[in-house]
Amino acid sequence: MTNIHDEKLALIYNKVIAGVPVSTDDAYTMLTTNDIMGLGFIANTVKKEMHGNIIYYGVNMNLNYTNICLLRCPLCAFSRDKDDHDAYCLSHDEIVNKIKNAADIDEVHIVGGIHPDLPFSYYEEMIALIKATRPDIHIVAFTAVEYDHIAKKFNIPLDELFQRLKKAGIDSIPGGGAEILANHIRTTIAPKKISGQRWLDVMATAHRNGMKSNATMLFNHIEDTADIVDHMCKIRDLQNTTGGFKTFVPLVFHEENTGVRAKRKEPTGYDLIRIYATARIFLYNIPHIKALWMYAGEKMAQVLMECGVDDIGATYYDEKVVHSAGAKTPAWGSEPFLQHLIYDAGFKPVRVNASYEEIKK
Ligand code: SF4
Repeated sequence: MTNIHDEKLALIYNKVIAGVPVSTDDAYTMLTTNDIMGLGFIANTVKKEMHGNIIYYGVNMNLNYTNICLLRCPLCAFSRDKDDHDAYCLSHDEIVNKIKNAADIDEVHIVGGIHPDLPFSYYEEMIALIKATRPDIHIVAFTAVEYDHIAKKFNIPLDELFQRLKKAGIDSIPGGGAEILANHIRTTIAPKKISGQRWLDVMATAHRNGMKSNATMLFNHIEDTADIVDHMCKIRDLQNTTGGFKTFVPLVFHEENTGVRAKRKEPTGYDLIRIYATARIFLYNIPHIKALWMYAGEKMAQVLMECGVDDIGATYYDEKVVHSAGAKTPAWGSEPFLQHLIYDAGFKPVRVNASYEEIKK
């Protein structure tokens, strides 16, 4: 006895129960169905099988070390040219002070612009200094776009770069820069950014060098359903080869202060459930689906816990990127705030670092 009314969804449910991977046609069905309760039920079935009644969250800070960026992607509200009055690049002393002042964090999430002038030592020493200051915190650092830039600028093979930065202290890699992998979308929203294939290649190299990563998907701008299916297929295929993705993170595009006009100003609640639930069902080979509360909104993040999501993100003290683009959520969330969201939806909150190691305080 299930709550599924859409006949095609019922067939998908049968596949899921039998452990058969769903197809790309199934992904279309899920991304366009109006049977949202049925879809949520299937995704929740998968989530419960993998994680039971647990919802993960983290206590972390963002470190956006520079907003100066050569690429100036139209999708981005955060980046600046070098001469802009509000352009900045943090010194190592400023970075160490920020880390020292963030007393309770388990993790620091480091991403920045593609700076034209920083030497390689800036990146390597930044990581080593953070590790020396707080050996206990997990360092999640640099998107595939930043790795590509550093490797090319300093003529360091990617394999060697990952080994060096891992030795300096990086523990895992965020999933940014994936946007929508199809190049006909990237040429409009981020024309100077690495291609979708290069993003996948950088991630494959990271995985080969023992670095686990996330994979993001920025949606609700100019993409259509086919682009979303294509994106998820490429991520699923690479995961079948490397097994290096730990989390898939769909991110709602916020257009304020950007150069991209979205087809629709905001996604509906149904849109969000379709995306996250489909991700949970389609990406059967990726352990975690994350709905960052500050992108999806805290109320929707709560609903998504019933629709396949097992991770609502973290406190994100000092977040700048999505709030530059007009996110209306608070700039950061306290641990009790995140715990309340999870308890209030009937789940058990578990505090973890970016590798899903439980933190008991
Ligand atoms: S999205 Fe990243 S690469 Fe693009 S302009 Fe912004 S900071 Fe630079």
